[in-house]
Amino acid sequence: SDVCSSDLVAWSRLSAKNKRTRSRSALLVSCATAARSRHAARLETMCGIVGYVGPQESLKVVVDGLRRLEYRGYDSAGVAVVVDGRIESRKRAGKLANLEAEISVDPVPGSHTGIGHTRWATHGAPNDVNAHPHLSEDGTIAVIHNGIIENFAALKRELEESGVKHTSETDTEVVAHLLAAQMEKSENLAEIGRAHV
Ligand code: GLU
Repeated sequence: SDVCSSDLVAWSRLSAKNKRTRSRSALLVSCATAARSRHAARLETMCGIVGYVGPQESLKVVVDGLRRLEYRGYDSAGVAVVVDGRIESRKRAGKLANLEAEISVDPVPGSHTGIGHTRWATHGAPNDVNAHPHLSEDGTIAVIHNGIIENFAALKRELEESGVKHTSETDTEVVAHLLAAQMEKSENLAEIGRAHV
């Protein structure tokens, strides 16, 4: 089935294995734009997406990156980092400072793999719950996304019929649930992503 009829312009995967449980976590970044959009229009409306894997503290790199993207405008911000094979996420409506305040109250452990997002709401109010990242029900996949998933309503209905519970009003959340379902069948996330586009 299609995740979206739009153009997937960027897609990357950051993953970590938890040696003890062998569970997998994946942080996903996707930029989907409506098929009718032109490059210029996309630039005008772009939210901010940052991803990092490396030796530095990922939270710092990601938040610094989001700060540099603030000029694009946004209504909420969020991060997800991989810690010991599991995903920790924090997100807040409003300015990046709100997210930083939340992280200082409820810190995330050190991590070398992380993603961050500044959102311009298209589907769902600009609140904490609708801020990205969006996680699969088992918490092993976190998705941040820029753009619109045009057929999300049909996908959401299908997912709900199969028993999946959504926590947000966003179109983006369906991607986390669809990928989680597919990851039960395959190890290769890149292949799964391509199959959905
Ligand atoms: N359609 C998504 C949402 O409303 C992404 C919006 C954006 O590009 O920031 O959450």
